[in-house]
This record gives sequence, structure tokens and C-alpha cells, in this order.
Amino acid sequence: MSLIGRRTALSLRRQRRHSRISISTSSILDSIKQDKPQTSLLDDKVDIAIIGGGIAGTSLAYHLAKQSNKKVVLLEKSELTAGSTWHAAGLVTLYHPGINIKRLHWHSLNFYVQVEKETGQQIGFHQPGSLRLATNQVRLDEMKYQMTRAGWNKNPQKLVTPEECKELCPLMDIEAANVIGGLFSPCDGHIDPYSLTQAIAIGARKHGAKLHQKTEVTKLDLKNDGSWDIGTNQELSTQVLS
Ligand SMILES: Cc1cc2nc3c(=O)[nH]c(=O)nc-3n(C[C@H](O)[C@H](O)[C@H](O)COP(=O)(O)OP(=O)(O)OC[C@H]3O[C@@H](n4cnc5c(N)ncnc54)[C@H](O)[C@@H]3O)c2cc1C
Repeated sequence: MSLIGRRTALSLRRQRRHSRISISTSSILDSIKQDKPQTSLLDDKVDIAIIGGGIAGTSLAYHLAKQSNKKVVLLEKSELTAGSTWHAAGLVTLYHPGINIKRLHWHSLNFYVQVEKETGQQIGFHQPGSLRLATNQVRLDEMKYQMTRAGWNKNPQKLVTPEECKELCPLMDIEAANVIGGLFSPCDGHIDPYSLTQAIAIGARKHGAKLHQKTEVTKLDLKNDGSWDIGTNQELSTQVLS
């Protein structure tokens, strides 16, 4: 077989693998009875299935749908944010000594602002900034180390002197607290995790992802060809390319 012939055959095989989704008639009838959007159950191709509609799954759905032309589906057994996202304290920070996590934090801070603008869904993002205090040399060294990681992504975080700490927080007695330095992160703040997840979900849908709530994944079978069979309580049986 020629190279082009092999490619065509491979592509045809991939297309066939994508299209193996079966939906039982009863689940469609159930969805009509329960007034659910039945069209969302009628996809015949799924490239990516995400299980769980917390902040992680929803954000994954947004980014994958936006950055690829793949069919993305999210399956949530209850409703979006029903898990620990709903209980989250809501603090967001840029502080982290690891380069990759720090990059993710920086992306997140910018993404939250962008997704609010993009979707019009308010997320309750307040950014008063955060001031971390060092009252011993070990803590100050840790802050300096953290700042060496900041160079990988330019951002407004900076080390501050005890006097600058006082300016930022005039009520503080820096002598009594033995403050020898601090780290100021002006972008840090607080977000309502529920509203944020809903905003990201709106964006994910806008970019083509399908989000199914009240859909619990009950079965995951890895097939010999590397794809997955996913069973749910909605009797939606999906095959996904690994
Ligand atoms: C803005 C924000 C601020 C935060 N601030 C803090 C903070 O200050 N301090 C802190 O400690 N943490 C904080 N967090 C983190 C938070 O506490 C959680 O760790 C985080 O939200 C977990 O998200 P998750 O998507 O991984 O999990 P979850 O939110 O738990 O989502 C998992 C989802 O999976 C679903 N699910 C489970 N099994 C199935 C199945 N079989 N089929 C289908 N669905 C299923 C669940 O119903 C659930 O909705 C914050 C998070 C956010 C978004």
C-alpha cells in the first residue's frame, strides 16, 4: 500500500472509531420527559470526554474546545460545582516556588479576567493584592527563591522592605512583629468559585463543548484499539479516542 493509501486507510479507521456511539431510545424518551436538551445526547462523534464538572473539568473543557477542533463532552453526575469547588474558599494567588505551577497561576489570574469579559458572567473577582510577611531569615530566603521563579513569567510581584510593608498596611506594628521583609503580589485576591465555573462553562459551550449534567459515569472500558467505552446512568454509551 502506498503512503497516501495507508494514510487514507488510517484516517478512515479513525473516523470509524470516532463514530461509535450508541444511544438507547429509552434515554432519549427519558430526556424528553425530563425536559432535558435531547439534542445534546445525539452526538455521533466524541474525541474527548471529561468526567466531572468542577473547576478542573470545566476549565479543561473550555481550553480543549477553544484550542482544538475536537468534539469535547463533559459528563457531570450532579450539577456544575457540586463537588469541592462549591466549598472552595475562593482565594487566588500567584505565590508558588514551582515554575510550572507559577506559570499556571499567572495564566489563571489573566484567564479569570478574560473569561468574565468574554462571557459577560460576573465572577466576583476582587484583587486587593496580598502581602506575605517574613519574620525570620529562612522565610525571607524562601520569598527570594520564589522570586527567582518569577523571571520565567513577567509579573508585578515584588519583594518589599519592612517600611514598604508598613506603607501597604499602616495598621501593622512592624517592630513588634519583627518584620524583616515581605512579598507583595498585587494581582492576588478572591473569586466566587461558583460564578467562575459558570462563566467558564458558558465559554466552553460557546467554543463548542457539550456539557451534560445529571450524567454519572458508571463504566469505563479501555478497548484493544486504545479507545474507551464510557457508560453513564443516562444509558449514553460513548466511545472516545484515548
Ligand atoms: C476560584 C477558586 C478558589 C479556590 N480557593 C481555594 C482556597 O482558597 N483554598 C483551598 O484549599 N482550595 C481552593 N480552591 C480549590 C478547591 O478547594 C478544590 O480543590 C477544587 O475546586 C477542586 O476542583 P475539581 O474540579 O478538581 O473537583 P470537584 O469540584 O470536586 O469536581 C469533581 C466533580 O466530579 C463529579 N463527579 C464525581 N464522580 C463522577 C462520575 N462518576 N461521573 C460524573 N461526574 C462525577 C462531582 O460531582 C464533581 O462535581 C479554589 C478553587 C477555585 C475554583
